[in-house]
Amino acid sequence: MNTSKKGAVAEYMAANWLLSKGYEVFKNLTPTGKVDIIAWKGEEMHLIDVALCSRSKRTGGYSDNKKGVAESNAHLGIKILCVLDTGDCVWRDDLFKSFPDKKCHQCGNTFTPTKGNEVVCGDNCRRLWVAKMNKDRYNARKSLP
Ligand SMILES: [Zn+2]
Repeated sequence: MNTSKKGAVAEYMAANWLLSKGYEVFKNLTPTGKVDIIAWKGEEMHLIDVALCSRSKRTGGYSDNKKGVAESNAHLGIKILCVLDTGDCVWRDDLFKSFPDKKCHQCGNTFTPTKGNEVVCGDNCRRLWVAKMNKDRYNARKSLP
């Protein structure tokens, strides 16, 4: 499936999820624009940008390509709704802020973990960190009497 079809499928999955939560759902008539869906329930109204989100089999962490969009559109009140591989939907804020910021064990930068036991900020630091751990383990074994 091409990217624009995947995007369309994600939007319908998001709409379906919102309907099942009791929202009235209004969809953008064009494939472009900052907002894909407006959802309305009682006093609550959300301007929604739908994002496909994938989960790494190796790390269990989530990723999408919406970090920059999320930051530049936050002041407009636009919320990003992530459609996961499983078909479930999660507000991006809940997905990426479920754990408090930490300091990366490798580079020392602050990062927002996407799962509880994450100790490094990204793939590059993970590689270096794992290499260091393996070296430490090797040296510890070597120094045994
Ligand atoms: Zn790092």
